[in-house]
Amino acid sequence: AASGVGAEAVEAGRRAYELDRKHVFHSWSAQDKIKPMTILKAEGSWVWDGEGRKLLDFSSQMVNTNIGHQHPKVVAAIQQQAAKLCTIAPQHVNEARSEAARLIAGLTPGDLDHIFFTNAGADAVEHAIRMARLHTGRYKVLSAYRSYHGGTQLAVNVTGDPRRIPNDYGDAGTVHFHAPFLYRSQFHASTPEEESQRALEHLETTIQLEGAANIAALILESIPGTAGIMVPPPGYLEGVRELTRRYGIVFIADEVMAGFGRSGRWFAINHWDVVPDLLTFAKGVTSGYVPLGGVAISDAIFDTFRERAYPGGLTYSGHPLACATAVAAINAMRDEKMVEHAAWLGEEVFGPGLREIAGRHPSVGEVRGTGCFWAVELVKNRRTREPLAAYGGSSPEMDEVIAACKSGGLLPFANFNRIHVAPPLNISVEDARAGLEILDRALAVADRHAQG
Ligand code: PMP
Repeated sequence: AASGVGAEAVEAGRRAYELDRKHVFHSWSAQDKIKPMTILKAEGSWVWDGEGRKLLDFSSQMVNTNIGHQHPKVVAAIQQQAAKLCTIAPQHVNEARSEAARLIAGLTPGDLDHIFFTNAGADAVEHAIRMARLHTGRYKVLSAYRSYHGGTQLAVNVTGDPRRIPNDYGDAGTVHFHAPFLYRSQFHASTPEEESQRALEHLETTIQLEGAANIAALILESIPGTAGIMVPPPGYLEGVRELTRRYGIVFIADEVMAGFGRSGRWFAINHWDVVPDLLTFAKGVTSGYVPLGGVAISDAIFDTFRERAYPGGLTYSGHPLACATAVAAINAMRDEKMVEHAAWLGEEVFGPGLREIAGRHPSVGEVRGTGCFWAVELVKNRRTREPLAAYGGSSPEMDEVIAACKSGGLLPFANFNRIHVAPPLNISVEDARAGLEILDRALAVADRHAQG
């Protein structure tokens, strides 16, 4: 075996693979059509596959290992908490949860000072919607077509991504609208300002036609992640805030993927002067070392539940081991200035590097992003913008590009016709540049399928 892992580990990996294929049921997959990659070990921005080959992790797994793999201080904090107190029922006060709530409340904008902890992102979304429904006494939920909000039943109904379709029973009270996406504008806009204004007009019309009196919440990723990292154009989120306030709709900012430094700010919404009513988080809060999510709640919504009980909860709401992990991960991010580093990488390395790559490859329709959160949109034809894989689907061409990245030594986050660049926020400049070079070479494969 190659560097870092021995023959024994490779053998253990082979055995794990066999058992996996026999007994493990995989998410979002036709069980017989997948060949999952085995990971034997991970460290910093690197992972080792089943053969012991080292790959640069430009995916941060599910865009969640924001502090990189096996951060020693966070691993030590988990060990200390495990030795002290692993679990306790959620009705009891625990030190780790109190400190995690204090830290998170201090990072979220405005008066989002009350934290409800969940196990992950989807249940954070479910609880945020339930809070909004109880707060307003209304039912419907507005969300964007190009969005992902989670895999549980309500969260997947709210999701706009076509993965919703086989799960959609049409009874969730969900209404979808088009959020801005200039490259594939639904509004025939040609400037960001035009896109922003027309998307807001479309949203207001949707609210009026659905009846504001029935709409509890609008949920929106501050920067849509899985759907393609479409950084909102100027004025859009301010406009959404204004419309939701005017029509009495609870504005839920979903920061599960974009939050905790990913975009170069602690929360993506901090790029604008906008305070939502509820904010959902997960992933980066613990960098995934132990599962945790939550909802940050404004004073006004908190007031609804001062005298009236909140009718919902989870066995692990504020799990001590998860909350101690969050405290350690947030402190590591702050002490090592990872958010600042991510912003700098976006401006100095990923932005310029990816624009250069786009200039060289006819298969690249657009690159967009911020911080350590970038999408490379691959097309068959730059003029028609025909995607290399349809929204919601895969394609042999995309599979080839992903395989070329992997054989070059890069593990990308790929989704439909896009390759995302989303490494840990503390990736070194050298590794960031090396990863871009591998991507650059792999895109030659995509170019073979592109005209114009
Ligand atoms: N919201 C967003 C924006 C997400 O990206 C995700 C996960 N990719 C979720 C919610 C669901 O989170 P989880 O998978 O932790 O349930």
